[in-house]
This record gives sequence, structure tokens and C-alpha cells, in this order.
Amino acid sequence: MSGKGKTPAIGIDLGTTYSCVAVWRHDRVEIIPNDQGNRITPSCVAFKETQRLIGDAAMNAAAANPTNTVFDAKRLIGRRFSDPLVQKDVMHWPFKVVSGHEDKPMIVVTYKDEEKQFAAEEISSMVLTKMKEIAEAFLGVQVKDAVITVPAYFNDSQRRATRDAGTISGLNVLRIIVEPTAAAIAYGLDKKSSVERNVLIFDLGGGTFDVSLLTMFDNVIKVKSTAGDTHLGGEDFDNRMVNYFVDEILRKYKKDISSTRRALRRLKTACERLKRNLSFMAHSTIEIDCLYNGIDFESKLSRAKFEELNMDLFQECVGHVEKCLQDAKMDKKSIHDVVLVGGSTRIPKVQQMLQDFFNGKELCKCIHPDEAVAFGAAVQAANLTGQGNQEIQDLVLWDVTPLSLGVGVTDDEMYIVVPRNTTVPSKTEKRFTTRFDNQTAVTFSVYEGERARASDNILLGTFVLSGIAPAPSYVPKLKVWFDIDCNGILIVSAKDEKTSNAKSIVINNVKGMLSKDEIGILLEEAERFKSEDEELKNMFKAKNLLEQYVYSTRAIVMNKKHTLQLPLTDAEKIEDDIRCATRWLEEHKFAGADVFEDKRKELESMWNPIITKCTTF
Ligand code: ADP
Ligand code: MG
Repeated sequence: MSGKGKTPAIGIDLGTTYSCVAVWRHDRVEIIPNDQGNRITPSCVAFKETQRLIGDAAMNAAAANPTNTVFDAKRLIGRRFSDPLVQKDVMHWPFKVVSGHEDKPMIVVTYKDEEKQFAAEEISSMVLTKMKEIAEAFLGVQVKDAVITVPAYFNDSQRRATRDAGTISGLNVLRIIVEPTAAAIAYGLDKKSSVERNVLIFDLGGGTFDVSLLTMFDNVIKVKSTAGDTHLGGEDFDNRMVNYFVDEILRKYKKDISSTRRALRRLKTACERLKRNLSFMAHSTIEIDCLYNGIDFESKLSRAKFEELNMDLFQECVGHVEKCLQDAKMDKKSIHDVVLVGGSTRIPKVQQMLQDFFNGKELCKCIHPDEAVAFGAAVQAANLTGQGNQEIQDLVLWDVTPLSLGVGVTDDEMYIVVPRNTTVPSKTEKRFTTRFDNQTAVTFSVYEGERARASDNILLGTFVLSGIAPAPSYVPKLKVWFDIDCNGILIVSAKDEKTSNAKSIVINNVKGMLSKDEIGILLEEAERFKSEDEELKNMFKAKNLLEQYVYSTRAIVMNKKHTLQLPLTDAEKIEDDIRCATRWLEEHKFAGADVFEDKRKELESMWNPIITKCTTF
């Protein structure tokens, strides 16, 4: 084993509801149990009069202390308070969330008899600290290096905030990797193959649902497409059960408990237990002493009823699988393996519906659904620190961009630099130029989205490259790079080749805080406007060709006139024509593609003979 003597690097699955930590040791991955002997730890922090509790202890205190027990921080991380999804979540949480500096959501709790506010990354850092301590107690050494996982659709801001959470907890975050890739690593180690395999990862957890389609070949794992819903998971199933019992209590006891947080919290905990039981029993019971006003609540639920309560949600899951396949332009028959990840995939109906969708195909349950993500993160941590064996060292990982990235150019055109589903890390270079004579500054607006008009997409950031050497329009050569690192963080840079003046921005926490649902909405919108956008794209293309022709002719004419290769009369005529053509372009900003094409053909038939003549001089 290489890397001996180094402090071990850990892999942490920072889940919405549960977290899990693993390490590469003795030539294999070990999942590390916590102080209660549990292999997963609730991502939960409770604030009390005298102390702070994290994990199982916090979860156990939740019923007695609901307003000061914080969970679901992952749903807030890297988002704005005014985000509609945050607004919706806030309504369901027993703890208070307010808008802080720059619209940042802040969780308000009473801790040691004082009101305190915490950002989501601070709460997540407390969970990460707990996971670090669990690892340290198990390994008997201090732990520093870690790989942390995030959902595939976490955007730049959410990934950064997760990294920040790691840093606050004193960890050196080696890398942020996406959960399906981590699960695939866990899976791929057992199933190394020299023929390409298409693997569908179905991850249904407590708060989020991710479907990812990966291809695996040798040791290379590539994410082809992702789909899902950041607000679909075990907790939604629990809530359906809670609503069902709230109705039952209202009917039976004429008592409405829907606004008593403590009773609801206790009911939810009991429902979750009941749900787990129903995964291996056809019926189960619920018993809660003194639930409300002296009611000792007792009831039963069948698996069939549980399934009925959640059927539409289960169907949604299958719908997302279909979408993921469509996105990758793949037929379900071409999927070699369907892998189950996440605690909620233990629900028999979910398994059955998925299996039916894949025409009865056997599902892979060979990796532990709760532990696969941490397992893969630990392998990646070993890979990055040189601690694993050769097989691990050979592993190469790929991830993709969820939406296209580009720059808004003249007339609001979305000029795509990095197409959707490009493998990252990636570095793309494009050439730009100026639009006006002697223009010394260019504004670059970076957008994310699939629409033809830039302003129909999401503006991620804007910067100005100044100090461009004065020159006629279309002459300056401006180089632009889009650099996406392995954590999915984007840096856009621009440089004037002549003066070497350069400027760059890190796309950070602006407006591009997109959830998977929002990305889904954008993609649907792009689909709806497909033909309209197609027309626009053709128009932009025809117009660009015409402009390029006009300006390149102008450059040739000026050059040839200068070197006297072009007779003065010809030069004057063409210059005059060019002036007319640029005026025409100004007046016909949004004509149809055919109009631009006809104009180009007309000019070509006039100018090409002259240009040819002068080049044969
Ligand atoms: P996350 O990654 O979102 O933190 P997990 O993958 O750890 O979530 O899954 C947690 C969810 O799995 C919880 O909602 C939990 O109730 C659910 N779960 C765990 N075991 C079972 C089971 N046997 N049957 C049904 N749901 C389960
Ligand atoms: Mg998970």
C-alpha cells in the first residue's frame, strides 16, 4: 500500500437527513460507526440551555425541543432566503429561518438562553465536525483530509458553501464529488469491466431524489445525464403519513394537532419508524403516549395504504428515470445495471415499480444503499492522497455541466461556449472581437441556459475587459476561456492579445443558484420554445455570416488599398458598398435568416470578383 504513514483521508456523505463517514484502511473501505454504534448519523444539531448536541443525541432531543433542533441544512446551503423553494421549506420547519445579510438565510435558535443565528454552512460544519470526530475516535489519530459529496445538481454556490462548511469544521477538503459518482465508484470496484456499461443510479434518500446515468469503461466513470427532484424523498412519505394520522385524530378525537409543533414532531418520528417497518411487514402499528391533551394515540397502517398515500410520489420517481434516459438519448434496454442507493430504496413498491419500468430487469442491490456514497468518497479520498492500491490509483472520474454556459453577444444572442453535458473539469477557449471602431472595452455577460436569447437564460455574472488597443471593429483578437475545475467551480477570463490586458471572474453566488427543479423548469421551457429558438439561432447564424463577410471584406480592402494592390476606383466603390451594408445591418437587426442570407449572396456576387481580381494581382 502506498502512502503509508500518512494520516488517513476520509470520505463523508453529507446527507440531507443522514451522514456517513468511511475510510480506506487495510486495503479496503471501512464504514465508521458512531459512538452509538450506528453506521449513519442524523444530520441534525440541537441547541440546549447548557450544551449543543449533534447526530443521534440531537435527533432524540428533537421532540422535546423542536424549535431549537435544526435539520435539513442541506436544503438551505448556498441558497438565498427569497428563493421560492426556501420559502416553501421554511413553512414546514419547526425552527425559525430569517433573511440575513445579502438575502442569506439564517437559522434562529435559542442557545444557552441567548438568541443566536447560524448560516446553513455553520450547521453543516457542525455535522461535519461530528463526522470528523467519529473518524478520529475510530482511527485513534487526528484526521484532516476529506472528500465530501454533494448532489449532482448542486450548483457552484451550493458546492462552494459545502466546501466552506468543511473548512469551518477544520477539514482540508480535498475535493467535492457528486453523490452518484461516489456510489458508482463503490459499485465499479466490484464490477470492473472492459466493455462499456451503462449504469443507472437511482438514489432516493430522505430529502432528495437523484437519478444519474453513468457510463463505466475500465476505470473511467462518466456522468451522462442527471435528473430528479431536490424535494422528493423519505420525508415526503413521512409527511403523507403524518397528514393521514392528523386527519384520523381529528375524526376520532375531534382534536386538531396540525399546529402543535411538538406533537407533530413526535408523530413524524413515529411515522418514520412505521414506514421502515412497512418495508418488511405488511402491517404495522403506531403508538404514542400522551401525544396531545392526554391522548394516547394508537393506530395501524397497512403497506397497501402506505403505498396508496404515496403512489403519485413513487410515480414521479419513475417519471424522472424516463427523463434521465431521454436526456442521454438512451433506450431503457441499453441500461446494463440499475443500482439502488439511498435509504428510501428499501421501500418494496419503489423497487417493484422501477423493476417493472425496466421490463422486469433484476435491480442491483449489491451495495449498501445507506453507505455507498461514503464508500465511494473514501475511495476517492485514498485516490487523491495516494493511499489506496493500484486499482484505486487508476480511477479517473468525470462529471458534466448540467446546463450550457455562454456569453451574451450583440443583439442578445446566447453564444454557447460550454455546451450542456460537457465533461468537467474542462477548459474551453473562444475568440471574440469588438463591434465598433476604436472600441477599447468589452462587457462580458456570462449566462447559463438553453435559450437562444441570452436574456432568457440565467445571468451568472458580468465583467468588463478594458484597455483594448484601439482598432477598427472586428480586428482586435480577444481570447476568452471558460475554466471549470473538478469541484464544478467556473472561472471566466478574457484577454486582449495585443495589449495582454486581461480580466477574469469567478462565478460565485450571483443569481445562478439553481436547484434541480429549477434546471428542470428551464429545460422544459427550452423544449417548449424549441422551434422559436431554432428560428432565432438560424437568424443569428445567418446574420453573423453576413457580418463576418462584410467586416472581413473591409479588412481586405483596407489592406489591399494600402499596398496598392486594389485599384483606387474599385476600392472606393467597395468602401462605399461596405458603408451601405453596415447601415443596412443597423436597420435590419432582427430580419429573418433568409433575408440575411440573400443579402450576403447579393454582396458576394458584387464583391467576390473584385476581391479575386486583387488577390491575383
Ligand atoms: P439522505 O441521503 O437524503 O440523507 P438516506 O439515503 O440516508 O438520505 O435515506 C434516509 C431516508 O431513508 C429516510 O427518509 C429514512 O426514513 C429512509 N429509510 C431508511 N430505511 C428505510 C426503510 N427500511 N424503509 C423505508 N425508508 C427507509
Ligand atoms: Mg444520500
